[in-house]
Amino acid sequence: MKICKNCLQPDSRPGLYFSNDGICGACVWENEKIEINWNSRYDELLQIAKKIKNNNSSNNYDCCIGVSGGKDSTRQAIVARDELDLRCLLVNCEPPNITEIGKKNIENLKNLGFDVFSVRPNPVILKKLMIFDFYKHLNPIKITEFCLFASTYIMAEKFHIPLIIQGENPGLVLGTRLTGVGTDSNALTAEKMHTLSLGWQEYLEANGITEKDLFLFYYNRKKLEQQGTSAIWLNYFIQDWDPYVNSEFSKKYGLHVKNNLDPNEIGSYHTYTALDSDFNPVNQMLKFIKFGFGQCMDQVCYDIRTNRISRDEGIKLVKKYDGKCSEKYIDAFCEYTGINIDDFWNTTEKFRGKMWHKENNDWHNSYWDEF
Ligand SMILES: [Zn+2]
Repeated sequence: MKICKNCLQPDSRPGLYFSNDGICGACVWENEKIEINWNSRYDELLQIAKKIKNNNSSNNYDCCIGVSGGKDSTRQAIVARDELDLRCLLVNCEPPNITEIGKKNIENLKNLGFDVFSVRPNPVILKKLMIFDFYKHLNPIKITEFCLFASTYIMAEKFHIPLIIQGENPGLVLGTRLTGVGTDSNALTAEKMHTLSLGWQEYLEANGITEKDLFLFYYNRKKLEQQGTSAIWLNYFIQDWDPYVNSEFSKKYGLHVKNNLDPNEIGSYHTYTALDSDFNPVNQMLKFIKFGFGQCMDQVCYDIRTNRISRDEGIKLVKKYDGKCSEKYIDAFCEYTGINIDDFWNTTEKFRGKMWHKENNDWHNSYWDEF
């Protein structure tokens, strides 16, 4: 059991790489960024875009981008259109129980002047699979990640769009280099990200679910490769790709963020995270119990790496807010899924990670002793 010597990232994150001197993969990437010639990387990006445009003889889109309307996807769309001069098809996969801010942001993105495909997988099936994921993995929004990624890749395949533009490679920004997603610019391998690599096929175990029900939940990488569609992670090419910078960038283009945010209610302190779903605080609280860290930790680690806060300030924030989730979100989740509240907590306890121990009848996180 260890945490990064630079930020606070714990080794319970699946696929997380650590260097020999105890630095996590995300901090290794932050150090590697100093050595990169970013002008030449950006030039490489411009060349990719130019080649795509020159070779795209069809009267079709040049690129396909999955968007939630949040800070990252707003920036992706604007960069693709205004800096790379690409004709964009945006694909929005609507999350279950989308928030009012989420609705406003996707409307904002449309009104910035884009063609948008809205995809909404059958909500009855989605709910069934969220319940399946809750009991099997204690990760009820796991299934939503499948359609979030797959919908963009499916559209690119069906419309023969030559380029898919993704935001950030988790192998770089989270440091999960030990997953198959790698540390390069190739986003066709998104299916090898930890969550997606568990495979869509396991959902066939869910009661009454057939392969046809899962059409929108996986993509065919081989087919995309055969037709010459490529996919890139934008953060590989852009030096200042960063949650805070992206949010400031996107606010100038009309992004709405959370007002009157209370970190005690949602377990995170930035106004720009997870804008489109109120299931997120519940899922992050469950992650906290299973893996010993939640969204506050993720934000703190980013902010330490980019020198926005000190390590000591980060420790205070984690101890104060990490894993916090208001009862109202838990109640709403239970109401949506029909899971009984006692069953919710009993199941949660079954997944409690080995970093937890009891002290005076309260659960204590052993990672916090490592700070
Ligand atoms: Zn680190």
